Amino acid sequence: MSLVRSLGYAEARARVLEAIRPLPPVQVPFTAAVGRALRQAVVAPHELPPFRNSAMDGYAVRAADLASASDASPATLTVVEVLPAGRPSQRTLGPGQAARIMTGAMLPAGADTVVPFEDCERSGTGPGERCIVRRPSPLAEHVRDAGADVREGTIVFEPGRELSPHDLAVIAALGFANLEVSPIPKVAVLSTGDELLDVDQPLRAGAIRDSNRPMLAQLVTAAGGSVHIEQRLPDDTGGVAHAIREALETCDIVLTIGGVSAGDHDPVKGAATTLPDVELWRVAMRPGRPQAFGTPLGRLFFGLPGNPASVACVFEVLVRPGIRALLGHTQLDRPRVPVRVAVPVESRAGRTDFVRATLAWREGELWASAAGAQLSGHLSPQSQAHALLVVPEAAERLAAGERAEALVLRLPER
Ligand code: AMP
Ligand code: MG
Repeated sequence: MSLVRSLGYAEARARVLEAIRPLPPVQVPFTAAVGRALRQAVVAPHELPPFRNSAMDGYAVRAADLASASDASPATLTVVEVLPAGRPSQRTLGPGQAARIMTGAMLPAGADTVVPFEDCERSGTGPGERCIVRRPSPLAEHVRDAGADVREGTIVFEPGRELSPHDLAVIAALGFANLEVSPIPKVAVLSTGDELLDVDQPLRAGAIRDSNRPMLAQLVTAAGGSVHIEQRLPDDTGGVAHAIREALETCDIVLTIGGVSAGDHDPVKGAATTLPDVELWRVAMRPGRPQAFGTPLGRLFFGLPGNPASVACVFEVLVRPGIRALLGHTQLDRPRVPVRVAVPVESRAGRTDFVRATLAWREGELWASAAGAQLSGHLSPQSQAHALLVVPEAAERLAAGERAEALVLRLPER
């Protein structure tokens, strides 16, 4: 399988996504579900709120009793009970009667509206308490109806949703103590290169510190994976092949960095040819052209190029969508937003460019500018970038002022 396949970005993406079947879901306590893909539908087993209740501290009354209330002839109601939140009324409110009611308490039968304390006068306390109201109240004022928020039987969340802390509140209110969600896949991140040093090693002639591996490990973690193996490997094809095979035994996803292009000592290229169901790719994208991809032994394998910009971009536009598909997310990409091009960008027809770009707000629109020279060996452009500006395959350039799309990593301050 030493053939190198040339393909466009769209085809590469389609091949990655076609190769992926979502991992079987797992059941977790609902608090562990935040940030993960929901893998079941959440159908409301009851209404929210579950019962009609007061939105204010005040008096639950019958609106009809206040119909002709005015300064000249106030309505004076007899307070027959006090209703704190959590204690339902045992009686039905009769004509001329009111119940002192607190926010969240169930409305008594017979009551149809609430007069807040600040809109009436209290006379006396305890059994002799009266409430004096000087104007009419519309029906159901300051009343929260059962089901006004969520109706019983509604599909509240569809499978594939990334659950937020706010979703968790809905889930808690509906009584789902456990949920089916995506599992956390085990990931191996293997960097290759005789020139690479660990972060705490002093530089020596010809050597650089391994900067891709920590970045990629963090990106994987942020995308919902758990990094089980992290290794830095010398440029030795046999050793790299061995490390990949070992990682495939325990990990759902194996990522390699570097050694996949046309160099004399590119070990992943050689190792890939010994793996079943792995192809070498030349993807018409910049950065990130040389890659390897496949599903050896039913796992997911991405051979990423070595240049830092390539690692960052290939991760965003192929690996991350792949990881999210494996987890069962419906939203695979970073938010795709319309932007205006602030500074012209040159590309080439037949190639998709992902330009590390900064964004700035101008009159309500986001304007994108390349974050420094787009050299794939540089680290700072991806560090400065708010987004990847997409130059589509058919376009040779993006002109100043042109409308385009960007994959947003973070938004600039306004
Ligand atoms: P390669 O594809 O292995 O030839 O790598 C391409 C370029 O990326 C070379 O300049 C490498 O030194 C650099 N590179 C490869 N891996 C890493 C890494 N893990 N961290 C930083 N730079 C790397
Ligand atoms: Mg290398």
